[in-house]
Amino acid sequence: MATTSTASAIGPTGNDSMLRIPCPQCGERDYTEFRYGGDASKSRPDHASTDRRAWLDYVFLFDNPKGWHREYWQHVQGCRQWLVLRRNTATNTVGEAPRARAAGPP
Ligand SMILES: [Zn+2]
Repeated sequence: MATTSTASAIGPTGNDSMLRIPCPQCGERDYTEFRYGGDASKSRPDHASTDRRAWLDYVFLFDNPKGWHREYWQHVQGCRQWLVLRRNTATNTVGEAPRARAAGPP
């Protein structure tokens, strides 16, 4: 039995409206050119820290916020820069996306 494949661009919201990310180097691009890199609002524990609870929280526990959130994204199919994207998780709208080095700590 032959199967047919309908390739369509389905965005993270489940519809065909694509998430567009404003890369400071390349301009506005489709989210498929980027790779999600995690929560940018968390602070990494000090490397010398032996606080297991702090490392457990940093590595394995994630919030699921509704509203504006800071996220790391890398432009893997473009300039390869890491960005800190402000994205509203309720509406999937994006805000500014400075380079991660320029964005500073959370
Ligand atoms: Zn770029």
